[in-house]
Amino acid sequence: MTQRLAVAVEAPQYSGLGGLLDYVHADALAPGSLVRVPLGRREVPGLVWELPAGAAQEEGALPDDALRPVAQVLASLPPLSGAWRRLVGFAAAYYQRGLGEVALSVLPPELRKLDDAKLARRIAKLRKAAETGAVDDAPAEDDEAESAEPANPAPQAKADMAGEGGRAAPALTPDQQAAVEAVTAAGAQGTYLLQGVTGSGKTEVYLQAAAHALAAGRQALVLVPEINLTPQLEARFAERFKGRRLVSLHSGLTPAQRLKNWLLAHLGLADLVLGTRLAVFASLPRLGLVVVDEEHDPSYKQQEGARYSARDLAVYRGRLEGTPVLLGSATPSLESWQHAQQGKYKRLDLASRIGGGALPAVKLVDMNQLPRAHGVTVALSPQLVDALRERLALGEQSLLFLNRRGYAPVLHCTECGWKSGCPHCSAWRVFHRGDRTLRCHHCGFTERVPRACPQCGNLDLQPLGRGTERLEEQIAQALPGARVARIDADSTRAAGALQERLAAVHAGEVDVLVGTQMVAKGHDFRSITLVAAVNPDGALFASDFRAPERLFALLMQAAGRAGRDARRASRSEMWLQTWHPTHPLYAALRRHDFDSFAASQLAERQGAGLPPFSHLALLRAEARTVEAATAFLDDAAAQAGDIAEAAEVLIYPAVPPPVARVADVERMQMLLESPSRAALQRLLAQWLPRLQVLRAAHKGLIRWAVDVDPLGI
Ligand code: ADP
Ligand code: ZN
Ligand code: ZN
Repeated sequence: MTQRLAVAVEAPQYSGLGGLLDYVHADALAPGSLVRVPLGRREVPGLVWELPAGAAQEEGALPDDALRPVAQVLASLPPLSGAWRRLVGFAAAYYQRGLGEVALSVLPPELRKLDDAKLARRIAKLRKAAETGAVDDAPAEDDEAESAEPANPAPQAKADMAGEGGRAAPALTPDQQAAVEAVTAAGAQGTYLLQGVTGSGKTEVYLQAAAHALAAGRQALVLVPEINLTPQLEARFAERFKGRRLVSLHSGLTPAQRLKNWLLAHLGLADLVLGTRLAVFASLPRLGLVVVDEEHDPSYKQQEGARYSARDLAVYRGRLEGTPVLLGSATPSLESWQHAQQGKYKRLDLASRIGGGALPAVKLVDMNQLPRAHGVTVALSPQLVDALRERLALGEQSLLFLNRRGYAPVLHCTECGWKSGCPHCSAWRVFHRGDRTLRCHHCGFTERVPRACPQCGNLDLQPLGRGTERLEEQIAQALPGARVARIDADSTRAAGALQERLAAVHAGEVDVLVGTQMVAKGHDFRSITLVAAVNPDGALFASDFRAPERLFALLMQAAGRAGRDARRASRSEMWLQTWHPTHPLYAALRRHDFDSFAASQLAERQGAGLPPFSHLALLRAEARTVEAATAFLDDAAAQAGDIAEAAEVLIYPAVPPPVARVADVERMQMLLESPSRAALQRLLAQWLPRLQVLRAAHKGLIRWAVDVDPLGI
C-alpha cells in the first residue's frame, strides 16, 4: 500500500506550486520529516506536511498512481515538531510567501545537501560528543570534508559538562525581582514588555529568567538585533551558565557551524540558543522562554524574500507554545508600547540604573546662534569643543555620534555647480577621502575622485556637508593631541577591525570616539562621560512616519553609552547640536521621558490613521523604466476592484520611494492601508495570485514583491 503525502518544497509563491506538492511513499511518514523528492528533472529537499483534508478528492488532483514517489527519506533527523510547522505555516501565510519557500529557507542550507547516511553519522557524533561533554571539540564538518573555522568566530561557550555552575548571579533589585518573578511564575505565559534604560539591569533579568527555564529542563531562545552584539551577550551568558550548552545562530557562522548549532538545538542537546532574527525559526523541542532584546530594533525585520518580523514571530511563537516571551527595550516600538498600555502585554519596568547611576544630562546647542563663516555653519560648536577639551583634561572619553559615513555626502564644483551624482541611481555618490573615491552607497559604484570637474574642468571641487571621516578630521584639528578613533562600516571592514577598535576604547587608548549607529548600540563603554549627536535633526522632518520614533530610540541608546560607570555618572552629558531646539522630541529626550514621547507620537498616529491604528502592506515593483513599474502597479490596483475586502482597504496611488532608481532599476511602490488586519490579509491572499498572472503581461517588469507590516514607507 502506498501512502499519499503532502511535501513542502521550495517553490516561489504564486508559481502555481503554492508550496505543497503531492507524492507517494511506501509507508506513512510523520509530518515534519525531511525528504528528497523529484521535481521536474531535479531532486529537491522537502518537508512532509499535513495532508490537507480531502486533498485527493480535490478537483484536478492526480490519482495516487500518477504521483511520483519520494526519492529519499532522511530518517535520521527527528521530524520538525508540530509547533515549528505551525510557526512556519503562519509566517508563510501572514507574510504572503510560499509555505515550502519559508519552511526550507529557514533551515540551515547545509542540511539540504546531506543524504541520510551522512546525516546519521553527524547526529551520532554530536550525541556522543554531548555525552562526553566535548561538543566544542566535535568537528563542525563531516570527517571527509575539510574543517573550516567560522569566518566571524563568535566565542563558543565552553560546554564543559563537568564544570558546575558559572559566575554567581547578583542579588536582584526589587524591580528586577518583580520582573523575574512575573516571567517565571508557574503557568506564566503571554508577552512581557521589560522597559528600562541602558544599564537598568534588563540583561540580568534575561539571565535569571533563562536560568529558571533551564532549571526546569527547558530551552531558552534569546534574540538580539545584530551579529556584532551576539559575542558580548554570548560571553555574558556563557560566564553565567558554565555547565550548560549555549549555541549561536546567525549569518556570520560558516555553513557547517550553523548546521552543527542548529542540530544541537533541534536534538535538544543545546540549552540556550542565542541569535539574530533567523534564530526565531530555530527548532527547539523543549522551548521554555523567548527573549527579544532591543525589541524595537528595525534589524528584526527581514528585508528580502519572506519579509518577516522576528519580533512579531517570537510573540506568535510564544503564544503557540504557551511559553512566556520577554521583550526588552529602553525605547519600545510604539506597537509594543501600546499593547502594554492596553494590557495585551504585561509591562515590567526597571525604573533606574543599577548602582543609582544617573542618566546623562541632555544639553541642547542651538545652532541658529552660531556665527556663520562664508555662509556655512561650523560642524562643531565652540561649546561642544570646550566640553570635549574638559573631558580630555580629565582623562575621560567622549563619543561623537553622526549617522553618516564617508567624508562628505556629496562633492561639488564651485564653478559650474556639478555634483557627484551616481550615474546608476537617483542618489549622490559619497566622497571618501581615505581612498579618494566617490562611492555610491546604494549600488556600490565607485570611482577615483576626478582631478577636475567632469563638466567644466574646474580644479576646485569641494565637499558639501560632513560624514564621520570629516568629523574625525575636524576633531583632530580642534583638539590637537587627542587620540581619535572612528568606528563605522568603512573603518571596520577588515576582519577583526571592529573588535580591535573596541578593545582600544576599552583599554583607554582612545580619547574621542567618532562613529555611526554602530557605536550607539549595546557596547558597554565604562569611561565615556560625554556623548554628542553632531547633527541629529535630519530625522525630525523625514517623510517616513517612523523616523521620529527611530531617532528617539537611537539618541536614547547613544545617551546610554555615557555614565555607565556610576562614579562618573553625575558628570555625564548628552549633547545635541540642533537647529530645532524647541522640538518636542528633544524636550522629551531631555527629561528621559520615553512614555510621554510615545503617548504624543501615538496621538499623532491615531489622528493620521497610521500604525498601530491601521495596518499596512507595501506592493513594490521594479522595472527598467518608471512607466513600466507604474503600469504594473496601476493594473494591479485595478485587479483588486472586485475583491470584497478591497472595500475595507485603502489602496494609494503608486509613488517612487525616496531613492527611486538603484543600479539602473526604477522602483515604485503602492501602499495598502486598512483598519482591519484580517481584511488586509484576506485581500492579499486573493489578490496576489492574480498579480502573478498579471506579471506575465508586463514584459518590462523585473520583479514585484509585497511587504506586510513594512518598516519604511
Ligand atoms: P541593561 O541590559 O539594562 O543594559 P545590565 O543587565 O547589563 O543592564 O546591567 C547593567 C550592569 O549592572 C551590568 O554590569 C550588570 O552586571 C550589573 N547588574 C545588573 N543587575 C545587577 C544587580 N541586581 N546587582 C548588581 N549588579 C547588577
Ligand atoms: Zn564644474
Ligand atoms: Zn549608485
